[in-house]
Amino acid sequence: METSYILNQLGEANEDYFGAVAPPLIQTSNFCYKTCNDLQTAISDEKNNLIYSRGNNPTLTILSKKMAALEGADDALLFSSGMAAISCAIISSVKSGDHVICVQHAYSWTNTLLRELLPRFGVFTDFVDGKNIEEINAAIKPNTKLIYIESPNSLTLELQDIKAITEIAKKHNILTIADNSYATPLYQQPSALGVDIVVHSATKYLSGHSDTVIGVLCSSKEIVDRIFANEYLTFGGISSPFNAWLMLRGLRTLPIRMKHISQTTEQIVRFLECNPKVEKVNWPFAASFAQNELAASQMKAGSGLFSIYFKTLDTKRIADFCEALKYFQIAVSWGGYESLVFPGFVHASHAKPSDVPLNLVRFSVGLEEADVLINDLKQALEKI
Ligand SMILES: *Cc1c(COP(=O)(O)O)cnc(C)c1O
Repeated sequence: METSYILNQLGEANEDYFGAVAPPLIQTSNFCYKTCNDLQTAISDEKNNLIYSRGNNPTLTILSKKMAALEGADDALLFSSGMAAISCAIISSVKSGDHVICVQHAYSWTNTLLRELLPRFGVFTDFVDGKNIEEINAAIKPNTKLIYIESPNSLTLELQDIKAITEIAKKHNILTIADNSYATPLYQQPSALGVDIVVHSATKYLSGHSDTVIGVLCSSKEIVDRIFANEYLTFGGISSPFNAWLMLRGLRTLPIRMKHISQTTEQIVRFLECNPKVEKVNWPFAASFAQNELAASQMKAGSGLFSIYFKTLDTKRIADFCEALKYFQIAVSWGGYESLVFPGFVHASHAKPSDVPLNLVRFSVGLEEADVLINDLKQALEKI
């Protein structure tokens, strides 16, 4: 299916709502029926009917059709956050006594779920270097039920060979989940590479305007139907219609935002690779990035998230640099219209110890012009 058709038309039926070009925000909790029998029939197949907005809502249905088509999956579910989607995907795949393999440097709360929460329910995880297929192979146990990957990750941007991993998983009858937030379905399609469940923090590029928190899970009809009838309705982590409506609007401009951001980032990365104060730049398509061939083989392009290691470990000087930036705002998150900078050392001030290097600084490139951002970096680099 062609991308602009998916984004502009699929799932929409303007004739059903006065010809309105923008689909309505159906802000309702429940749906009424003429007869008891009609309600009874509908309840017997909740996945395909409108009963209550913890299950289905028409604004969300439009969005889930678009997300499934973009990911090349049968169906999609929408959640109140990326973490709600990730938690639901993982918990629906395991039971007490099962073993999980997860890549190092997965998103921090995904890590918390696997490392701290699930052991309470008898599910244990081994964390492996996702770059090393042999290490993944060696970690497989008779009770391994799930391999969780995030390629690239959102801090050091390391990739995994998705096809090689899903081939191993299929051989051992192990389910795979991939966090595809970084690349978006426009730049990478994990399901085409054999991944069973694709999850997204749609808070990032898919919505793109830093005004909503929302998550997506895409998979086969069989898996989505099973999750819907069990964890989805039970946990109740569905997106609000308003947040889904904002994401629907954000999706319209996804291709042009991604194109602009990708091109701008390439120029910024090239500039930083040549700066003597910068030790290393982590961006999948950087000439100096160790896995750039793997990136080119499974991704169409890089997005606007990248990190650098400064030569200095002096966090005061790194803070001076971040605070001197005028266009990059100091904040967590990424994928919005605005450029952001996130110094890794702030992790170290948490109660938990951090394995984020003190000299790592992460950037999210927004919709500003490349020369504006490069000039901003230039003047701030003089302060370090
Ligand atoms: C932000 C993020 C998440 C979590 O998504 P929320 O929408 O914040 O819950 C998951 N994975 C990655 C890679 C992220 O950057």
